[in-house]
Amino acid sequence: SDSQDQNSRAEQTVCPYCGVGCTIEYAGNGKATGTAGPVNTSGEVCPKGVAAFDVVAHEDRLTEPLVREGGHFVTAPWETALSRVAAELSEIIDQHGPDAVEFFASSNCTNEENYVFQKIARMLGTNNVDNCARLCHSSTVAAMSERLGAGAMTNTLDDLAETDCLLVTGANPAEQHPVIFRSYFLPAIRNGATLIHIDPRETDTTDAADIHLDVRPGYDIQLLNSMAKVVLEEGLVDESFIKERTTGYTDLTAHLDDADIESGADAAGVAPESVREAARAYAEADTAAIVTGMGMSQHTSGTDNVHALLNLALLTGNVGRPGTGVNPLRGQNNVQGAGDVGALPNVLPGYEPVTDPEARQRVADEWGVEPPNEPGLTETTATHQFGDAVKAAVVFGENPAVTEPNASSVRAGFDELDFCVVIDLFETATVDHADVVLPGSSWAEKAGTVTNTDRRVMRMRPNADLPGNARRDLDILTDLGRRLVGQSDAFDYDGPEAVFEELARVNPLYAGMSYDGISDSYQRWPFPADADSGTDVLHTETFASGEQTAPLVPVSPSPPADAVAEKQLVLTTGRALQHFNSGALTRRSETLMRMRGEDVLEIHPDDAAARNIEDGDTVVVESERGSVTVPAAVTAAIRPGVVFCTFHYLDPLANALTGDALDPVAEIPEYKHSAVTVRKAG
Ligand code: SF4
Repeated sequence: SDSQDQNSRAEQTVCPYCGVGCTIEYAGNGKATGTAGPVNTSGEVCPKGVAAFDVVAHEDRLTEPLVREGGHFVTAPWETALSRVAAELSEIIDQHGPDAVEFFASSNCTNEENYVFQKIARMLGTNNVDNCARLCHSSTVAAMSERLGAGAMTNTLDDLAETDCLLVTGANPAEQHPVIFRSYFLPAIRNGATLIHIDPRETDTTDAADIHLDVRPGYDIQLLNSMAKVVLEEGLVDESFIKERTTGYTDLTAHLDDADIESGADAAGVAPESVREAARAYAEADTAAIVTGMGMSQHTSGTDNVHALLNLALLTGNVGRPGTGVNPLRGQNNVQGAGDVGALPNVLPGYEPVTDPEARQRVADEWGVEPPNEPGLTETTATHQFGDAVKAAVVFGENPAVTEPNASSVRAGFDELDFCVVIDLFETATVDHADVVLPGSSWAEKAGTVTNTDRRVMRMRPNADLPGNARRDLDILTDLGRRLVGQSDAFDYDGPEAVFEELARVNPLYAGMSYDGISDSYQRWPFPADADSGTDVLHTETFASGEQTAPLVPVSPSPPADAVAEKQLVLTTGRALQHFNSGALTRRSETLMRMRGEDVLEIHPDDAAARNIEDGDTVVVESERGSVTVPAAVTAAIRPGVVFCTFHYLDPLANALTGDALDPVAEIPEYKHSAVTVRKAG
């Protein structure tokens, strides 16, 4: 519209959706356009990128603060709303201590905003700060940090384009990271790289694969241990790498002596010959890269799944060289950065443990206050303690009422809180449980930096003016920090650049970076203070842990939390190309809703026939936790015994069905394995 164009201008910024980090800008006429950037070098973007502007001037945008009075929201001046937040949180902290508050940070907001957010929590005296990386790759980060010393892509997208073999596990990059798939993986495949796809569904990624292992959800360790056994049996280990760069080889081989390839493959629901073929293709390639997604991480055995993947990479010497490594594909445009800057309960900026006195001192030197020394609550554990140990929540740009598992129980928990404040763009499902709502800024109205999936820190720039009385997120947070912490200058920043400079002083991974230095392109972490540039391939001479060697670790399978009774099916949830997370943004895009307006339940023809279900029939899906209705999509692209839907919609609300059992190490939920019954409605 004309009024929209008056408030809009073309400035190169980063797409607000997935972790690829495509460069986009305002195209006029209420639309965004891709423009050549560090990642999408051709300027190409996916439908979400094109539609990114649809939410910016959307009529549903929150434009005034809301405070709850007598059960209803009324608009209020900023002063009233912020004073109420400060008064309520201060009272709760006075009565119950700072650990009675949980801070939900945002993997969809900038590094500077997340840095300030975790600084508020820690200066108040709690490490109870987390972000939705908890729900996607916390298990990957836990396993990789423990073994290699860094929980991030070991390699770069550019060098993966040159690999000889891609082992894509529990991910569907053709739909979820489409620009990576088109610009980096397809060129590798065209050059002769073998693509092995491990996933219970046949997706667009499978279409490009040479080998597809349609693993049973929850049985990845049996599969990966069988592949490792093939590597050992057929003499495909990299002996010099084992000798120079690993420990624990004898223990691992002794453990795998007990593994049987046939029975492992059988448990995983795949043919033993396909397991052998995949293991040979991976181990015999000169360079082979693992690309891992939430099919691996979102299990009660998620951390162990990734340990088993790391064994494969280390056994075959596929770490520390271009075209190799273990590479998690991150889901949100700043989920990597939110962790990098310390929006996690167990680590400070730069993944320095809160238990490390030197790390705490470095932060204290900057803040004048030492952060607490005990890890805080993860968001998945905190929601279980709502109303008990946890009395208040500060929710910044997240929508846990839709994205956390066992949603009815989480929503009931929110109602047990004494106080909840949400900073967001729209009246999300989480806003239903809030006492105060603060209208924040969209991607197109802010400046700062974000860090993409291959560790590139890039600049965001405003393309539009704020609607109504909405405020920039950084201004809201610094205002809250001043009011809550009461230390006059700790939150006085002259814009995002000043925050970034402080962040670079306390985060050793960002120490050599400068805001100006990423003005035109990007800088990649780790970028030590004394280096000329960031580091592309990790673990080349030594591991990021500082050690010459990384351990091989025996991994044993454990059953999924939900036992599957006779006649039940396994629900696995995931994403669709056109939508993003809770759908709070993308369901408001007319463009994307025209492309995919409703969800469907994918079900195999045999399972459908056994239940008298035909394509398009409405079905009832029920678990111990809840039930939803959804149209069935009968397709042979999903393995028998498994059904799939996304978690992007409020109806069906997929997380009404999922369980809240957690991985014991990373506290990630098991979104990929819920026992359900499916029947025709009516
Ligand atoms: Fe690029 Fe991801 Fe945005 Fe699509 S959603 S345009 S792939 S950053």
